Amino acid sequence: LEKIESSACTEKNGIMGGNDCRILVFVRLRPMAKKEKEVGSRCCVKIVNKRDVYLTEFANENDYLRLKRLTGRHFTFDASFPDSTSQYEVYTTTTAEVVEAVLQGRNGSVFCYGATGAGKTYTMLGTVDNPGVMVLAIKDLFTKIRQRSCDGNHVVHLSYLEVYNETVRDLLSPGRPLVLREDKQGIVAAGLTQYRAYSTDEVMQLLQRGNQNRTTEPTHANETSSRSHAILQVVVEYRVKDASMNVINRVGKLSLIDLAGSERALATDQRTLRSLEGANINRSLLALSSCINALVEGKKHIPYRNSKLTQLLKDSLGGACNTVMIANISPSNLSFGETQNTLHWADRAKEIRTKACEANEEELEVPETGTDQAKLLLELQKEN
Ligand code: ADP
Ligand code: MG
Repeated sequence: LEKIESSACTEKNGIMGGNDCRILVFVRLRPMAKKEKEVGSRCCVKIVNKRDVYLTEFANENDYLRLKRLTGRHFTFDASFPDSTSQYEVYTTTTAEVVEAVLQGRNGSVFCYGATGAGKTYTMLGTVDNPGVMVLAIKDLFTKIRQRSCDGNHVVHLSYLEVYNETVRDLLSPGRPLVLREDKQGIVAAGLTQYRAYSTDEVMQLLQRGNQNRTTEPTHANETSSRSHAILQVVVEYRVKDASMNVINRVGKLSLIDLAGSERALATDQRTLRSLEGANINRSLLALSSCINALVEGKKHIPYRNSKLTQLLKDSLGGACNTVMIANISPSNLSFGETQNTLHWADRAKEIRTKACEANEEELEVPETGTDQAKLLLELQKEN
């Protein structure tokens, strides 16, 4: 069994943990698509030194100094990934530490934000040959668990849900819409299936099944774009002993979120069903921007209740959580407006301060002698 370390947080450059926690913000540029090349688009984004992002339309590509002076043309983030960056590098830079903290009983969330076609699903899910953050995080999680415990002490539960048209649905066992409820762990979707997972392969199958259940509707902007927000939740629970040999139960929760396209509803030619969808997706993303604004401005009231998405993200945005935002952008000048919009929100999200992220732990009560719990406790104590 692991021993509890003395510090409450993973302290790294005062960013993760400590008392001054903030959302880490990364930008990922995707390669120019074939279709974009065919219509003769130019690249309007330049990433320099793995941090600085320059929007270069109407300017000389190398005239960075001029761009620096133009508001909305120069941004800097925790890291910015050029189009050649591998899935693995994106995972290790953005999410590996969050996974490590989850294994210490802390909450973590990673979400991808950006317009349709900007690379959110590629980053989160990826392909069979190039798996994304969700898959690499689960792999890493199981590897670390295997390295740490050979006694089956860690229990991993998984759920996968979607917010579509302001309705919450279980992607692992589709059925009636789920109702959101507040309990002592925060906002939860009542009746959401929690699958106990034992291996990466099994999780992959669950993910594939879940994705087939994801609502996808063709739009003019991108035929295969998903108009839904998908949230994968992984809960890791295990027991440790503290210095005085009390057995402590620790629970870390990891949320990995693939948001719907952030483009304004007006940008796509939407009618009937789709215009309703657009309005609702806007409601969720609009609510997200209102929450970001309220958090940045240090407002007392944060309007989480305005949408299902923001209720579900409440923990990640204003709670005790290591939160990472990956903003996805296209290089094409045809997406200039959307890219500028995405970079604006990513820039704003950098200002959000979250609460110190401490481990979720509870001392186990001493069970009655003779019960299974008492036997387990005895075993745990013998091990030391
Ligand atoms: P979104 O989920 O934001 O709508 P996708 O992830 O579906 O966008 O990406 C749109 C297209 O671009 C897909 O065909 C995807 O495979 C491709 N793509 C996105 N990002 C990358 C990348 N970093 N490298 C290679 N192809 C990418
Ligand atoms: Mg997508």
